[in-house]
Amino acid sequence: MVNPLPENIKYCPRCANSLVWKMDGGRERPACPTPDCKFIFFGESSIGCAGVVLRDNKALLVQRGWEPFSGTWQLPGGYVEQDEVITEGVAREVMEEAGVEAEVNRAVAFRHSLGGTAGGPSANVYIVFALDYVSGEPIWDGDEIANAGFFSLEEMGQMEGVQGLSRWAIELTLNSNDSQGLRLQQGGSMATRPGWSLFGIDMPDPDRL
Ligand SMILES: [Zn+2]
Repeated sequence: MVNPLPENIKYCPRCANSLVWKMDGGRERPACPTPDCKFIFFGESSIGCAGVVLRDNKALLVQRGWEPFSGTWQLPGGYVEQDEVITEGVAREVMEEAGVEAEVNRAVAFRHSLGGTAGGPSANVYIVFALDYVSGEPIWDGDEIANAGFFSLEEMGQMEGVQGLSRWAIELTLNSNDSQGLRLQQGGSMATRPGWSLFGIDMPDPDRL
């Protein structure tokens, strides 16, 4: 099997020592020999998010102003920062790209895509949330985002370049209710820790488990 980790990762990002190759978890990986550091390069991963915001059975879409895929319409979204609560990250992206305030209701879909030699520059998990509309009319910067608005499925059928993944997630949201999908678990039998956002399917009475 081809090792997907890049040969040109040479220095430790934590202590700047030269990395050596070391067997860990069944595969040779660049590892830091500094005893107190123990950094091991497992490859790059990233987390993306997008929001389905419905209002009067119409979904919020933004039109990309930048390449790649300039001119196409998609759900507002982007990358979640490493130190950002994911529900705040998706609400931030919706506000930044379309000027709409919304709150996470549930997760309706996720996609995992491979990184390394098998795929893109990083492995990625992209999570699509359904958000409850709170306030605001669509506004956009005219640069990164060329246009934005609420559109029905019928209207999307007349538009050029609506991304298939976005449309699919909108259909899932329109055809499900608040009790379906993965819900943010707050309280209940499963204790969470600081920094966690835990999602699961709702149970009628979690205390019975
Ligand atoms: Zn190091």
